[in-house]
Amino acid sequence: MTMTAESHDAVATDLAAAACLFHGFSDGSRLRILQHLLLGEHRVVELTEHLGLAQSTVSKHLACLKDCGLVSSRPVGRASLFSVTHPESTTQLLVAAEQLLEATGYAVTLCSNHGLDAHG
Ligand SMILES: [Zn+2]
Repeated sequence: MTMTAESHDAVATDLAAAACLFHGFSDGSRLRILQHLLLGEHRVVELTEHLGLAQSTVSKHLACLKDCGLVSSRPVGRASLFSVTHPESTTQLLVAAEQLLEATGYAVTLCSNHGLDAHG
């Protein structure tokens, strides 16, 4: 099987986009919000209560997750209800992450570049 330069470029572009996607997932609070929204729709105030996060933190991350297309909202009265836009794919990614963590013995948590201690 041969690969043209063109298809190499296409793969490189996809990986750059994938890096953006993983960057979107690279925050503990965003992951907690995403995982919790998989349980069902929530208002901002409910997310702050259920996750014990500050409202400013939740609002900031929801705006980011909406920009990324990972979370959607619909107006209900004066509030907005937030939900995961693509629950199946998001669940698959979180499950795959868990499997990879198991397979690697959670080595990433010890990484000096982006392990648990690297963030201070
Ligand atoms: Zn909840």
